[in-house]
Amino acid sequence: MTICNVCESDRVEYMSTLRPYQDVDWEFAIFSCLNCGSRFTFRDPGVNYYEILHGVSGSSYGYHYDMAGKVKKFLRAGHLDRCERYLRKAGYKYAEVIDFVRGKNKPLSILEIGCSTGVMTAFFRAHGHGAEGIDISQKAIDYATSTFGPFYSLNPSRERYDIIFHLGLIGCVENPKTFLSGFLQRLDTRGEMIFNAPNVRSAEELDEVWVTTPPPDLISLFREEAFRSMCGDSADVAIRKVYGASEIAKKNIRVLTGRKYAHFPISFRTNRREGKGRIFSCIKGCLGTSSWSLAGMLWSLRLFKRYENEYGLIVVMTRKSTGEI
Ligand SMILES: [Zn+2]
Repeated sequence: MTICNVCESDRVEYMSTLRPYQDVDWEFAIFSCLNCGSRFTFRDPGVNYYEILHGVSGSSYGYHYDMAGKVKKFLRAGHLDRCERYLRKAGYKYAEVIDFVRGKNKPLSILEIGCSTGVMTAFFRAHGHGAEGIDISQKAIDYATSTFGPFYSLNPSRERYDIIFHLGLIGCVENPKTFLSGFLQRLDTRGEMIFNAPNVRSAEELDEVWVTTPPPDLISLFREEAFRSMCGDSADVAIRKVYGASEIAKKNIRVLTGRKYAHFPISFRTNRREGKGRIFSCIKGCLGTSSWSLAGMLWSLRLFKRYENEYGLIVVMTRKSTGEI
């Protein structure tokens, strides 16, 4: 029996099977949950996906290492402003958390889950916060520690935090509900957890089975209501839909040209069907448009349009009390 990754209901429906890569025959059956509306798939426990992905040269997991090098330089030179501009440019998700923490106007205890090479934790420490990062990868912890100092480990060092954040993580964990309730326990009363999440409506709007980041990396797409039911009465949940125009344009160009997903190794070519067919249909759309202005054509190309409404979710969970969840 198939159980939903998100809500654990057995009211699930098989949608189709995704083969995201040409070079490896990994298959992922995609299911839709009739109870919570999420979509999900499963990793094969017998396959060590990450060893294979990391074992291929050109893996752009290296991006996080580049970021760490740059952030270290900025922080060493005391260029906090330049560091912040760099992080904001690196992705709207970083900007969201920076703004959120800044809005509190006081030194905070902060836990970053899935800190990778540790840049955000280092950034917040440089701003006077008691920040620490955890990750399941010992390699990442070792790297972050040697780059920024002893503020990283496999497990949290404190019982409770003012703020916990994680970026690009909730869609990748095997059991999001257990993950969330476990870490909500570590918030002080009125403490807040902030994170970004993949929105199932992005896929629906594009009439796709899945979003740009394929399994085995991303295995759950959420419907926003699911977050409220996942944490029950233990937290207040606020959700915003966000998008960064430049990122949407970049993603759309990638989809239009059938290019590989940027963060996967070069030899893992994607197996998506859009490519040339989609460009052709866009050119046809352009020709058919009544407005020949540049703006009209861009609109027809829908470079900015396609993800605009339902791209990603920013979720904030505020702990109601520090009792058992
Ligand atoms: Zn469900």
